[in-house]
Amino acid sequence: MINLDYHSTTPCDPRVVQAMLPYFHEKFGNPSSTQHAFGREAAAAVRRARDQVANLINAYPQEIIFTSGATESNNLAITGVALLEIPGRRRIVTTKIEHKSVLETCHWAQRFGYEVELLDVDQTGRVNLDHAEQVITSETALVSVQAANNEIGTIQDIPALTQLAHERGALFHCDAAQAIGKIKVDVLEWNVDLMSLSGHKLYGPKGIGVLYLCGGKRGFPILPLMHGGGQEDGLRSGTLNVPAIVGLGEACRILDECWQDEAQRIMYLRDRFEEIIKKRYPDVVINGNKAYRLPGSSSITFPGIDAEVLMANTPDLAWSTGSACNSGALEPSHVLLAISKNRTRAYETMRVGIGRFTTQEDIDLAVDLIIGALERIQQLMSDLRKPSSA
Ligand code: PMP
Repeated sequence: MINLDYHSTTPCDPRVVQAMLPYFHEKFGNPSSTQHAFGREAAAAVRRARDQVANLINAYPQEIIFTSGATESNNLAITGVALLEIPGRRRIVTTKIEHKSVLETCHWAQRFGYEVELLDVDQTGRVNLDHAEQVITSETALVSVQAANNEIGTIQDIPALTQLAHERGALFHCDAAQAIGKIKVDVLEWNVDLMSLSGHKLYGPKGIGVLYLCGGKRGFPILPLMHGGGQEDGLRSGTLNVPAIVGLGEACRILDECWQDEAQRIMYLRDRFEEIIKKRYPDVVINGNKAYRLPGSSSITFPGIDAEVLMANTPDLAWSTGSACNSGALEPSHVLLAISKNRTRAYETMRVGIGRFTTQEDIDLAVDLIIGALERIQQLMSDLRKPSSA
């Protein structure tokens, strides 16, 4: 099985697994139990991990809040700001192509009186800055825009959007779950107020994430979703998941050392993949933005080919279609619908995600499997079109 689904999740790096293992049994302490050595040992491990995460994004350790993943971080950021009820600011601005954990949370905020406005994107998935300029006003409480898209890999101009939000006195949240470790993510350069990360998208474990909070709780008093023992500066009560936090820290340490070289290698593989497919099938459409795209990301539309059929004909490939099964019906992805009015295109689109453990042999074999499947499907379609001789 060849894994070309790195957007969905990444395998844990073996070094991450090694770093985590002692924290399940030998070093099992609760970091809040600092009266004894077990607790202090766990607290020290959490401190180290916090430093490692902060280092990767150019933040201070006290600005890192550990959560269960980017879904929770997005919920905490948006709901945490909405609950502040800043006078005169009852609007939240986001985009049409956000992850559901942002869109659904904004939708939820409508229940307590917020108006939600969705920014348009162009055909490449980039936010239309003119539209943003009109929509973000002095009544906006929060602007939430992802750094990079999980389906088409388009990278947004976060510094420009942050500046727009701040000029109008609004806060800015960025979902950087797909961007971290693939492009430079620097919270000071971006000037974001809040930012979400996820462990399992960067070769760390699942079930762990981060909300970056500019200036920490003291600088930025958002309200918590989880109430209890007051961990994470009162913003995320609950005993810390020490092994996962240690794993996330190690994953960030590794990325800090290697992300630039890794991104180059992965981009080479992605370009090779697309070139071979395009040479054989010149009418395929590569979605997303040529200049602003994640290095391992490829969203390809195969005109006239049903993506579900292509998927079924490539059983040795782990990749994904541009549609999802919602309540028994195949729904085209909201991202593909936002960049194209053509619904059919969404049903003909496949997503490829290349990552740390992908080799050139994997790419060449994957291309052979895809071309073989396309030839079989086209043959079958032309046989079906032939008039029957009976
Ligand atoms: N945001 C984006 C852009 C994502 O791609 C994902 C994961 N698909 C999430 C948020 C949710 O992350 P998690 O799985 O850590 O909750």
